[in-house]
Amino acid sequence: MTASQFVKALEDEGVDVKEYRSWRTHNRNHKGAWGNVNGVVIHHTAGVNSLALCYDGMAGLPGPLCHTHLAKSGLATMVGHGRANHAGTFPANAFNAMLNESSTHPRPSGAETVDANARTYGIEIENLGNGRDFYPQKQYDAAVRWAAAICRFHGWTEHSVIGHKEGTTRKIDPKGPIGNAGGPQFDMNQFRKDVAARLKKDEAPSKPTPAPKPKPKPAAPAKPTVDLSNLIAAARRDPGLKQGGTTHPADVKLVEAALQKEGLLSAAYAKDGSFGTLTRTAYAAWQRRCGYTGSAADGIPGKASLEKLGTKRGFKVKA
Ligand SMILES: [Zn+2]
Repeated sequence: MTASQFVKALEDEGVDVKEYRSWRTHNRNHKGAWGNVNGVVIHHTAGVNSLALCYDGMAGLPGPLCHTHLAKSGLATMVGHGRANHAGTFPANAFNAMLNESSTHPRPSGAETVDANARTYGIEIENLGNGRDFYPQKQYDAAVRWAAAICRFHGWTEHSVIGHKEGTTRKIDPKGPIGNAGGPQFDMNQFRKDVAARLKKDEAPSKPTPAPKPKPKPAAPAKPTVDLSNLIAAARRDPGLKQGGTTHPADVKLVEAALQKEGLLSAAYAKDGSFGTLTRTAYAAWQRRCGYTGSAADGIPGKASLEKLGTKRGFKVKA
């Protein structure tokens, strides 16, 4: 996402955001591309008053050292946009679990072959990381909102979020108690649950609100199913038919409705069941939102992007 989209996504999620120096153009892109991005990495600073350090970096490790610095107060300060020196390299097993949004995140093992700086967003949460310094609840909640804002923008689930210690055995962050010195230790599984709870809110509130008590929900109605092969056939054939031609209208209508809810397709075209040029264009925009570019964002649905849309907008995918 662009720098402006990043700020808006955070503010829409209720994060208190401040912009620092030339963060919008501060990055390591001259050392390699940033993107496609596939996930979010959580760090602690292992220090105090680390904002300038996060921006400038240090000898042998130039800044930015993250995208956002998060103070104890919960204030999120933007320090970089683009490639940042925060994650280093990950072994493929840890990276792929994040990429594929696996429900479990295995212990990292094997050669560190993945350039995670090119593929992830990073936040540095101010904390000594000695296991005793605690994350005030406001700071922890802001970190959850920060991660949820990025996932919401890209259409990711909570399983695109990992702790640095889950990406590499070289690191221990994030570490430390939550809320007070005797609070529970920072647990990435719990953090992901908290991100998931935020993502369930259909629209982000404009202001922080206290976390609501979970209410028991009535059993959800069975979800409708979209057949991926039907959808691909429609996306290939419908644009060449005369206006409004339909190959698999039932599958297409479900996807059009989801694209409309995403704000990518106008209501006038959202119920025609035709995967015409406008629907192709809208689907391509969804693919870009998922982090795809070039021919991977050509508007012909793929399994991963369709499943993300379905997870978010209430249909199942038969592939
Ligand atoms: Zn770290």
